[in-house]
Amino acid sequence: MTTVVPAVFRRRLSPLAVVEALATPHAVDRYLELVNPMLTVRDVRAEVTEVRRSTADTVTLTLRPTRQWRGFEAGQFVQVTVDVDGVRRTRCYSPAGSQHRADGRIELTVKAHARGLVSRYLHANASTGLVVGLTQAAGTFCLPDPRPPRILLVSGGSGITPVLSMLRTLCDEGYDGDVAFLHYADTEDDVAHRDELRALAAEHSAVTVVLACTGHDGGDLSGYFGQEHLDAVAPWHADAETFVCGPPGLMTAVRDLYTRNGRAGRLHVEDFAPAPVAVETAAATGALTFERSGTAVDNTGTTILEQAEAAGLQPEHGCRMGICFSCTQVKMSGCTRNVRTGETHTEPDTEIQLCISVPVGDVAIDL
Ligand SMILES: Cc1cc2nc3c(=O)[nH]c(=O)nc-3n(C[C@H](O)[C@H](O)[C@H](O)COP(=O)(O)OP(=O)(O)OC[C@H]3O[C@@H](n4cnc5c(N)ncnc54)[C@H](O)[C@@H]3O)c2cc1C
Repeated sequence: MTTVVPAVFRRRLSPLAVVEALATPHAVDRYLELVNPMLTVRDVRAEVTEVRRSTADTVTLTLRPTRQWRGFEAGQFVQVTVDVDGVRRTRCYSPAGSQHRADGRIELTVKAHARGLVSRYLHANASTGLVVGLTQAAGTFCLPDPRPPRILLVSGGSGITPVLSMLRTLCDEGYDGDVAFLHYADTEDDVAHRDELRALAAEHSAVTVVLACTGHDGGDLSGYFGQEHLDAVAPWHADAETFVCGPPGLMTAVRDLYTRNGRAGRLHVEDFAPAPVAVETAAATGALTFERSGTAVDNTGTTILEQAEAAGLQPEHGCRMGICFSCTQVKMSGCTRNVRTGETHTEPDTEIQLCISVPVGDVAIDL
């Protein structure tokens, strides 16, 4: 009698590969999560072990990642996936803790946006025991190695996280250069991690922490970023590497000043929100078709993600700025332009990122 051996067993496969083949079409982790969501073969996940709400509109989560987690460099970001009303949603968050944290846990501080889906969900619902999906850390907003002798860290609002991570990392390393931390918030009470910042400044003589309040009196300085603040906080700023993360107004003010001063080359920036896309509404032509949902709209010239949302569709998305690839879909036909690079893509049946692609004429998307 001849036994028919399934193809999967004919090659010498690892036990894991066999299990994965048998589990197809779902990955093994989709079955394991039914038993214990922290028991994974390939996926990185993390369990919330602590939740703090130190200001009215932020929540700080401590996460214990699964064994696949490879750590991060201060300033990088991770993508966090949570189920909101039964739909998996992914967003980027920058760890706020030191990259040298001994227990390997990750600290994220999330600011609840008034109309934001995931940030409001986490702010309202995150509790210990919640398990979230995680990616490995990514991003190039990092401290140079070796560390430069003078470092200026500037942040505003929720942009505090990557630069606080840098400050905590430098303190753990016993950094003995000059480091100044200038943070902007409406009032002192709006500064997440205010107590930790004050404690770091008290413990480390090389660290200067300055809180600037833009809304009311209070803080160490008042008003918005400008040359005066720079001179007051880091008189040596001309010789420093500067790292900045914050709302668009702060980013523009810092970029403009550094460009005027001829020091743009020493400025390192991280944007949490996409820069506004110049919409060529008048020049927009053609129809945008979402094939699977049977929806067609006149091309308005905005990104395909925005046009899909305006048409009532809810495509998965994350960063809305081309970083996280959550919104990747197949363009079936037509020409699209990448708003970040200006490149056009005419090839059919290729993957594009909806959040940074605009249609040029008739376009069909598999959505
Ligand atoms: C590299 C990186 C690191 C980040 N790190 C942090 C961090 O450490 N902490 C932090 O708090 N945030 C961080 N962010 C921002 C974070 O990823 C999210 O963007 C933020 O939490 C808002 O997500 P949300 O789901 O609440 O909002 P969303 O629901 O995604 O909405 C975001 C914005 O889009 C608007 N919007 C929503 N729906 C629509 C629609 N249908 N049409 C048009 N506009 C719409 C909303 O009004 C809102 O202003 C980071 C972002 C990046 C790119």
